[in-house]
Parts: sequence; structure tokens; C-alpha cells
Amino acid sequence: MTLQTLTSFSGGQWLPPAGERRALHSAITGAPIAEVVGEADVSAMVAYAKDVGGPALRALSFHERASMLKALAKAVMEKKDALYALSYQTGATKADSWIDIEGGAGTLFAYASKGKRELPNAHVLVDGAPEILSREGTFIGQHVYTPLKGVAVHINAYNFPIWGMLEKLGPTLLAGVPAIVKPASSTAYLAEAAFKVLIEAGVLPGGALQFIAGGVGDLFDHLDGQDSIAFTGSACTASKLQSDPRVAREAIKFTAERDSLNASILGPDAAPGTPEFDLFIKEVAKEMTVKAGQKCTAIRRAMVPASHLDAAQEALSARLAKTTVGDPRVDGVRMGALASLGQLDDVRSKVAALSAQNPIVFGDLDGGAFTGDDVSGGAFMSPILMRCERPWEADAVHDVEAFGPVSTLMPYTDAADAIALANRGKGSLAISVFTHDAAAATGFVMGSASHHGRMVFINRDCAKESTGHGSPLPQLVHGGPGRAGGGEEMGGIRGVKHYMQRTALQGSPGMLSKVVGQYLPGAPKDEGERHPFRLKFGELEPGYSITTKDRTITLEDIEHFADFTGDTFYAHMDEDAAAKSPIFGGRVAHGYLILSFAAGLFVDPAPGPVLANYGLDGLRFVKPLKPGETMKATLTVKSKSQRTPEMGEVKWCVDVTSPEGELYASYDLLTMNEV
Ligand code: NAP
Repeated sequence: MTLQTLTSFSGGQWLPPAGERRALHSAITGAPIAEVVGEADVSAMVAYAKDVGGPALRALSFHERASMLKALAKAVMEKKDALYALSYQTGATKADSWIDIEGGAGTLFAYASKGKRELPNAHVLVDGAPEILSREGTFIGQHVYTPLKGVAVHINAYNFPIWGMLEKLGPTLLAGVPAIVKPASSTAYLAEAAFKVLIEAGVLPGGALQFIAGGVGDLFDHLDGQDSIAFTGSACTASKLQSDPRVAREAIKFTAERDSLNASILGPDAAPGTPEFDLFIKEVAKEMTVKAGQKCTAIRRAMVPASHLDAAQEALSARLAKTTVGDPRVDGVRMGALASLGQLDDVRSKVAALSAQNPIVFGDLDGGAFTGDDVSGGAFMSPILMRCERPWEADAVHDVEAFGPVSTLMPYTDAADAIALANRGKGSLAISVFTHDAAAATGFVMGSASHHGRMVFINRDCAKESTGHGSPLPQLVHGGPGRAGGGEEMGGIRGVKHYMQRTALQGSPGMLSKVVGQYLPGAPKDEGERHPFRLKFGELEPGYSITTKDRTITLEDIEHFADFTGDTFYAHMDEDAAAKSPIFGGRVAHGYLILSFAAGLFVDPAPGPVLANYGLDGLRFVKPLKPGETMKATLTVKSKSQRTPEMGEVKWCVDVTSPEGELYASYDLLTMNEV
């Protein structure tokens, strides 16, 4: 087999191999399969990212960057067969590789879709509502996000070389920030293959993405406060890197995802024989064996009511006994190898330390039968289950993470004890609770959510569709406090904002409206000649406005509406009862009647560029409107976002007022308009 040669991708090209060579080995056979050659000029890489990649990415809108992510995801899916073939060498089974390869592509797809749906087709992201800061409303505040003008350095773990790279790249590129990816060396050959797919997709601007094969050298010396470091790996390396004086001095953003002693709790209500007991056993066994337990979210501490400890041990051991371990390419193998022999040594030494306090009740640390012809040099081990009889007297089980197919069962006395034990891990990425009791779940949230980045309740109602204990999802936050690093990744658009600066803008409404590309309250309006429903998407500008004629609401209108819709709430129909109401003080118009009359006043009925009204946001009925009172509506273009080449969303701000300007109701109206 020819050795794959890994070099860095720097300044838009793969560097020629030169200098020191370091061999990488197959996890299955132990044979060399790749070598890392040479050192990158990291200072040139940082400069190229900042001078070339950043400006090119920032020139694109959120939607253009989202389209880019979609193209990258498609490219990964098109080349997935080659990636699957190589992935076996990391010890991964086909199912493990699915998480890495298709899970990685899925994360990019998710960010592409969220970018299109939840971000504007613009360069600035408006954050929250404007703040009126002055009596006359001539001075306001508005928070905005803009992309950081630096480079994102991603230092990744070895366990999911593709997903680990893509889950960081999705939010980074969507934010408009270039990245330098440094994969973990032991599986860098797979990360490099996937990275090549991204580059060869041909959609990334130059400098958007670079790759370091080998060490980072003096990379940190070239970073400053516009840069960020997102690290995944051991707590030891994380704290070393985080305490680099340059990181502190320049306030470089540092996010860490590191060791995590994740817990899973069999709820107090979940006795043997309940669906929750069976689901718990299945999940613990799954988390121990998927990816040979090398998942940052894997269940390391399995907690059960003390009276069920023996039953849980028996059921779990029976399930683990069915796991065939060996060459992941062989049919029937359910668990592959650890990623490297070094990792195998590390896990063995950690289990040795743990088992001094907690005896092994399933598995063989030094042996086991492994399926396959040529596996004697591979990094295989059997799943190991330990039993910790007195968890309050044991320290190691709450402190030491064996990053392999290893978990420890322990008893708890009551829910408070389970919560305290779970929190003794000092912060984790994920915790699961198997319960069918909502009151118990509430207790766990109040007692334990503070210590865990993600909390999943699994029971008979959701198990079939549940994504399980250990799956980080692009929509949800991944990260945890304390030992888990205190970082947060993904979480939908939250993850994009990590690569942007939030700035509080202050100024006049007119100026800030122009700056953010949105009509803000108090900004001058453009009362145009033409009805806005006659204008195409491209002709409408924020601030374009019409005010309708007046309409007086009569008692007959209210009764007609009540009769027609069936809404005969006393406030509209019963004068005596309404008079006693502290809010109404007499009969008032239905809120929906006000909305309907507003539409009747501002709609221009003939077919035209407005294709559909598809919703209202932020509706508030501010003041009741009584029979005999008069209303009018003001319709103002608030913002626009093109959705497809043919259509764009227009958000209109609608104010329903008295002729004197007193506000009855306000809302944002959403229409889809022809471009
Ligand atoms: P590690 O030694 O800390 O390595 C992690 C990454 O840091 C690798 O890319 C590594 O590169 C790099 N690195 C190491 N020293 C560095 C330095 N001085 N400067 C810059 N980069 C450096 O972790 P590991 O032992 O390979 O990984 C196992 C641990 O990772 C486990 O204990 C597990 O808890 C943790 N993990 C956590 C998560 C999570 O999301 N929380 C996920 C996966 C793994 P090289 O490989 O080239 O040394």
C-alpha cells in the first residue's frame, strides 16, 4: 500500500513534502498508512486568511455563504464512498463512519438551510429590537453583529475527523470568517481527504480555508483579538493552550470542548420491566460501543436506583456480550478499534486506575477475541463495565475519563443523590435521564441543568424518534461548563454569532436605519405616490410607507363580526359585563376585527407583485377600540430578504392608530413578493 503523504494547504496550494516525516498507522493492523511531512509557514497562513480569505468571505451575503455550505455538503456526499473506505482505517465501523461523514455533511446542510431561513440576505445581522434612548425618539440604540476580521483556528480531536472539522466550519464560514484547520495527527489522513473534497468543490474563495498537517508551530504568536481558537481534545492540552500568554494578552477568543464524564440516570420510576429500564440498558450499551466509546458525549457514569443495581448490571452485561469486536470491514462486527495504539495504551492505563476502586464486572482489559484476519497489531479492546458500589467514597470515577468503550455503573439512593452524583462530574457535555415522570424530570432540570450543556429525557413516548444520548445536533448547543471546557458550539445561529462581534450602535433613527438596512422607529418615512403593493421587491426600500384613510367602527360592525365568526366574548357583546372589566370599561371591537379592517384599508386588491401574505409577527393590541371610534393604518416597509431568484420576503411594520396617532395595535406583516 502506498503511503498517503500529508502536507499543509497554505496560501492556496498544497505545500511540497519536505523535512521531517512522521508515520501514521492503521488502527486495524497497526501498519503505516500515511506520513505527515514538513512544517507549515503559519505566519504566512494567518496573513493569507486575513488579507485574502476574510475580505472575500465578507463580500458575500449570509445567503451566498449558505449556498456555499450547501455546495460543500453536496461535494462530501458525492465523494462519500472514498471517505468511507478510508475511514475503516481509523477503526470505525460503517455505522461509526456514517456519523462522521454523513453527520458532517448533514451539519453543513443544516447550517446552509438555517442561514437561508433565519439570516437575512445581507452582511449585517440585526440583534433584537431597537432601544429608544431619548424622550423625543431622535436618539436610539440598536445591537448588530458583524464578522470578526480575523481567522478562526480550529484544533480538532482525532475521534471524528470529518464531523469535527465540519461542525466548526459550518458556523465559521456562514459568519464570514476564514479558518485554519489543524486536525489531530493520528487520523489526519481522513481529515485531509475530506478537506481536499471541500477545496476541490471549487466554491470557496481563496484563503477561506487552510490546513495544517503536523504541529501548529508558533501560530499563536501571530494571532490577535480579532482571531479565535476553537479547541477539541483533552483538558490538559486545552488548559495549556488557553494559558498561552498571548491568548490572555490579546483577549483571543478561546472555546474548548474537552473531557467530559457524562452521566446517564435511570429514573427513580424506571424499575426493571418498564420500557424506560430497557431503553436505558440499550442506550448505555450503545454509547459504550459506538465508535468504540471514543465519543466526547459517551456515557461514562451510569446511575441507577440502588435496588436495581444488580438487575442493571445483569442486563447490561448480557447486552454487551452480544457485541462482536474486530476488523470493522468484516460482516457482523459491531465495534471496531480505538483510533491508535497510543490511545489503546491511554485507555488501558485509565481503566487500571479506575478499576482499583471499581471492579470490572464485564470485559477483559488485557485480552478478548477480536474478529478479523490481521488484527493482532490493531488497537482493539473489549467493552469494559465497572461497578462502583459506593460512589461518594470513590474519586476517580468522577474525575478520570477513559476515552474508550468504558463505563461505570453506580447506585443512587434518591433523586437528590442522583443529581448530586451527576454534578460531581464538575460539568459535562450531555446527561440523559430515563424517566416517564414529568415531576422527576423537572427536579433533574432544576438540580442538574446548571452542570450540563445538553439534557435529554428518554422514555416510551419519544424513544423511537429520539436522537439518543450521545448525538450533538447542529440545531442544539454542544458544549458544557466546567470540566467540559466551558465552551459552546453549534446551537443553530448561536454558533454563527461566536464568530461575530456584537456592537451596540447609537445614533439617530434615520442614520441607523440606513446603516442596518432596516426601517427603525422614528426614521423618516417615504410616503410614495404609488401603492407599495404595486411595487416589485427590487423597487421597495425600507421606510417606504402609506397611510390609509380612516374607518369608524360601529356597534353593528362588532355584532356582525361576532355573529359571522362565532366570537361572542363578553367584552364585545355584553355591555354590563364589559363595563365592569378593569381593562375594557364597556364593549370594544374584537382585536381580529381591527386587523381585518386594517387589511381592508391597506390592501391593494388587483393581482400584482405581492404573491402571498404568510404571517404576522409581534402582534400587540395596545388599546381597546370602542364603537364610534375611528382607526387608520400605516404600512411601512421594515426589511427585505431575497429568498429565491424569483421571490423575496418583505416585512412590513403596521401601526393601527386613531386619526390623532394614538396606537391601537401594531405588528409586522410578512409578504412574499415577486422580485
Ligand atoms: P489532545 O492531545 O489534547 O489533542 C487534541 C488536539 O490538540 C489535536 O489536534 C492535537 O494535535 C492538538 N494539540 C496537542 N498539543 C498541542 C499544542 N501544544 N498546540 C496545538 N495543538 C495541540 O487530545 P487527544 O488525547 O488526542 O484526544 C483525546 C481527548 O479528547 C479525550 O480525553 C477526550 O476527552 C477529548 N475529546 C473531547 C471532545 C469534546 O467535544 N469535548 C471530543 C473529542 C475528544 P496532535 O494530534 O497533532 O497532537
